[in-house]
Amino acid sequence: MKENDIRPNELRKELDKLQTNDIKKILKYKKKFLEVNCPACANGQRDYCFRKKGFDFVRCKKCDTLFVSPRPTEDILNNYYCLSEHIKFFNDKIYKLSEEARKNNIFKPRVKKVIEFCDKFKVNNNTIIDIGAGFGSFGELMRKAKKFEKVIVVEPSKYLAETCRKKKLCTIERSIEKVRDIKANVITCFELIEHLFEPKKFLDSCYNILDKNGLLILTTVNIEGFDLLVLKKKSDNVLAPNHLNYFNIDSLEMLLTKCKFKILQIETPREIRC
Ligand SMILES: [Zn+2]
Repeated sequence: MKENDIRPNELRKELDKLQTNDIKKILKYKKKFLEVNCPACANGQRDYCFRKKGFDFVRCKKCDTLFVSPRPTEDILNNYYCLSEHIKFFNDKIYKLSEEARKNNIFKPRVKKVIEFCDKFKVNNNTIIDIGAGFGSFGELMRKAKKFEKVIVVEPSKYLAETCRKKKLCTIERSIEKVRDIKANVITCFELIEHLFEPKKFLDSCYNILDKNGLLILTTVNIEGFDLLVLKKKSDNVLAPNHLNYFNIDSLEMLLTKCKFKILQIETPREIRC
């Protein structure tokens, strides 16, 4: 898979322009940004690493998690995601143009993997919830696979939630921390926790929603992955406020254990994409 397949070259310039504008808008609230402790181990001691596009990146002295501090408050971030022009552009143009390539290269393999995990760990097949569903492609394919009786998607961004509803997916347009009275056998969240103001609060909510023998399947960027070790701040992945938390395997494991999860499997896929 090439980047052009999922982010067409002709649209990337416009996307970058809109994203730069969105970042400028959020930086107007910089005085309201909050200093935070390490999102993995809650330690307060950190080393300053670098500044990129107006955001300061620091590294936890105890667990080596890289994170943005000070960072926008939860309200400022919610507002950013609701009004963000570049996310609207992603939804209206980029996802639409690249949907087939995304399905074939990203979401079909994900559905297959999730089903393998469910079989391996003998999970009840009543309800699966995909949090941060985006364009709803994973939800659609999961519904098509007929593995679960109910497929629910959670997507707080109004543009993306509307897209999910158009696909007739059972859609909750709120953050999971505000959702009550729902139970799931499996929760999936792909490339989500790096975006969150407070990952621990999110994981606690997931734990409360999961069935006793339920499964949480999550993916996130690994700050000790080869690409990030080489590119460091030059990586497109290192960009706030979209990405605020960059865990490594040990620090993510520590956080999940703190949130009462039992770790069943950790993978770094080592995919070579050229
Ligand atoms: Zn830490």
